[in-house]
Amino acid sequence: MQFTLSDEQTMVRDSAIRMVERDIQPVLDRNDADTPLPKEEMLRIYGVLASQGLTAPRLPESAGGSGMSMLNYGLMFEQLPAMVAISLLAHECTIARIYAESTPDQRERILTPLFEGKKICCTGTTEPDIGSDPRGVKTRVREDGDMLVINGSKAWITNASICDTINVTCGETQADGSIRMRRVVCERGTSDFKTQETATLGLRQGHLAEVFFDNTKTPRNNALGSAGDAAKVLTLTWNGNRPLVGLAATQLAQKAFDAAVSYAGMRKQFGKAIGGFQLIQKNLADIQTAITTSRLLCYYALDAIDRGERANGTSAMAKRYATTACHDAISLAIQVHGAMGISREAKLEAMYRDVRMLPIPDATNEILALIQGRELTGLDAFRS
Ligand SMILES: Cc1cc2nc3c(=O)[nH]c(=O)nc-3n(C[C@H](O)[C@H](O)[C@H](O)COP(=O)(O)OP(=O)(O)OC[C@H]3O[C@@H](n4cnc5c(N)ncnc54)[C@H](O)[C@@H]3O)c2cc1C
Repeated sequence: MQFTLSDEQTMVRDSAIRMVERDIQPVLDRNDADTPLPKEEMLRIYGVLASQGLTAPRLPESAGGSGMSMLNYGLMFEQLPAMVAISLLAHECTIARIYAESTPDQRERILTPLFEGKKICCTGTTEPDIGSDPRGVKTRVREDGDMLVINGSKAWITNASICDTINVTCGETQADGSIRMRRVVCERGTSDFKTQETATLGLRQGHLAEVFFDNTKTPRNNALGSAGDAAKVLTLTWNGNRPLVGLAATQLAQKAFDAAVSYAGMRKQFGKAIGGFQLIQKNLADIQTAITTSRLLCYYALDAIDRGERANGTSAMAKRYATTACHDAISLAIQVHGAMGISREAKLEAMYRDVRMLPIPDATNEILALIQGRELTGLDAFRS
């Protein structure tokens, strides 16, 4: 067992820190903190992410990806501002999903500009009436000559309002009346779909939107895979995504912790620095414990995936633990700051709002507990 980063891992992490400082944070800083970034600014960020191999980290080099281990990807991902991290996750895991189900022609045609960061993509599964149980999707696709026709709507889709390409999870009605899941790619310019941005609690420079398909046509050769395999592909990518979302929470908590340590050394009450009071020291100790355990658990889950282990329970555990612990840690960091903690100036309130977004995507914490419980007992609490 090795608890320090190797030279290569340190290099990977440090290159991401430099990339954020030099090329990404300035873009966020020059834009309004409460408004979704303009698409051209997002494309600037995607150009930077692509140059570091982050638009297709999970795909092998032979497939045009950067062939990173999930752990190395996690080390880089953890350095990204949370809004960028969640956008990248939607983009790169959509690429991985499309790749898993596409033909060489589709890969060349659809994926190349996405690898290069010249176009942005997303996956639309959640719907207004369908969230934790994606098998119930109501969006329908039907064949019509050389075209596929889609009707329905999606909700809470990361990147949707700025996407060029959306991978839509649909149901297709079979001759016997049953519904089979199918995934279909729509591209702006070719397909007419509409999006509407949703205002949110946190991650406000990001993009979360509804998507509307009203007899939306897409070429038949944009259908992925064979009917019926969508749920399996979604599960595989979710296992990787969950510890990554946990690391986005860890990054936010780390920033809040750094601010709290600094403030505790500076702020004086009762004639001395508040960092000298035992209860402030306990709060700082609790925050550090939450960050360290969250980080280690997320690294452990990513490493389990790299080792080829079945990681359903481990990944679920990592995300649920990290998003809860880091939420509580940021709240404590606000407490260490007293009233200053709730000011906009201190920026902790934004971290608190951002981290509150994270126990929901890629399965809610309740669903994650059930996934872990199913691994432990072999019994499925979702369905009888
Ligand atoms: C920041 C963010 C980004 C997102 N990005 C995307 C995206 O890119 N693409 C996409 O398709 N979706 C995306 N989503 C949507 C997300 O996947 C769903 O919000 C999530 O799956 C939960 O669905 P829901 O919101 O409809 O909640 P519901 O499923 O309606 O759940 C409501 C409540 O009931 C609980 N619950 C549900 N079933 C059970 C059960 N069996 N036992 C116990 N409790 C239960 C839930 O945990 C939750 O607390 C995103 C969401 C957020 C917040």
